[in-house]
Amino acid sequence: MAVKKSERLWFDYALLPSGWARGVQVTISDGLIGDMSVDIEPPSGAVRGRCLLPGLTNLHSHAFQRAMSGLTEVRGAVQDSFWSWRSLLYGFVSRIGPEDIHAITAMAYAEMLEAGFTRVCEFHYLHNDPDGARFSDPAEMAGQVVRAAADTGLGLTLLPVFYAHSGFGGQPPTEGQKRFLSDVDSFAALLDAVGQHTANQHDFVLGFAPHSLRAATPHELRALLAMDRQGPIHIHIAEQMKEVQDCLAWSGARPVEWLLHNADVDARWCLVHATHTNDREIHGIAKSGAVAGLCPVTEANLGDGIFEGRAYLSYGGHYGVGTDSNVSISAADELRVLEYSQRFKHLSRNVMAGEGYASTGRSMFEHALAGGGRAAGIPVGLAPGNPADFFAISSEALPEAAGGGDRTLDAWVFRAKNNAISDVWRRGAHVVQGGQHIHRPEIEARYKAALSRLL
Ligand code: ZN
Repeated sequence: MAVKKSERLWFDYALLPSGWARGVQVTISDGLIGDMSVDIEPPSGAVRGRCLLPGLTNLHSHAFQRAMSGLTEVRGAVQDSFWSWRSLLYGFVSRIGPEDIHAITAMAYAEMLEAGFTRVCEFHYLHNDPDGARFSDPAEMAGQVVRAAADTGLGLTLLPVFYAHSGFGGQPPTEGQKRFLSDVDSFAALLDAVGQHTANQHDFVLGFAPHSLRAATPHELRALLAMDRQGPIHIHIAEQMKEVQDCLAWSGARPVEWLLHNADVDARWCLVHATHTNDREIHGIAKSGAVAGLCPVTEANLGDGIFEGRAYLSYGGHYGVGTDSNVSISAADELRVLEYSQRFKHLSRNVMAGEGYASTGRSMFEHALAGGGRAAGIPVGLAPGNPADFFAISSEALPEAAGGGDRTLDAWVFRAKNNAISDVWRRGAHVVQGGQHIHRPEIEARYKAALSRLL
């Protein structure tokens, strides 16, 4: 994606690390924020906009699942749950090839940019060919994810997933899982092979992800952590009650409890979901400096449960949001469902505003910004030297944007139509204009062709 060398933008309002500012000029230099001035009149020749916000990180995505959105909302014969959804997923997975992954991922990534996400943490577990054999390039599928990010311009923190077992205690994998599987050695080779695909990526981050405590034994988890890799470490944890019960039966400990006792969980970690926790566990996550990776829309869609948001916030925990199954792709939706789930749970309002904030929208936005950056391993926010990753809200779609301030964020989260985002810049490239990704027609055509092959 071509990036203009230098550009000057001016906004009525912008949300800076120090708070809201008026009359804000931002220069872009080689994809980074150059200098910034506040309280100035619009200079001639500058691109002008209303309300500028730093781009958010989507801290948990399985991009290919976008192709299944809307297809699993029919009730089956038995009680529908996460587990029946997963069996539908496995049928779909058996057919997807490298070109399909590229086409579906590019569509999802264009939509993420349109929704105000400027980076994604992709939790990528589809590694093997349809027979379960390695591709000649072990990073064949991961490379398609990298390619989709490059085509759309979305920032990428790639988390190749280690998956070896179907249940706690090293149970053998099922037939439906054969495309996900690695052992520790082949997983290390996969991580090495990803490097062949990322030569021209400016701020690509490589981390890794043990899929869950179901899918990796303690021995394997220790071996992965001993690989001495840099970058973030993400894991699915305590998403389902059955997982908690199985973990208790296997180890006598709950999943989060087990992990906190058996790994050096710190700020490099993102604990995805962490839905079913007791107070000691929620306190432990907060104290560790790890990020809780909340995916409220998917957690609602799958009937997972509700995160202990109020207690976690009171312990000073870090969190961000992710679109996970990509049943919908919207930062504002995730934040809204996060707050609403807490209202259902606690029969009260503005739960996620927390201490020191008046505005729920502002509090959730700033937590998601900081927590997302921590989970992705990148600096965030509208400050010189940071990647020029930001988006503008239009005052035509959202009148509150004309006035700036926290009301804009509250309105954006709780009442905006069609997310109200007019423009998005990612590493200085103006990738969304008039609410649409600049390459949407081509990306959408490839996506539709892939879907008609697959469905
Ligand atoms: Zn997930």
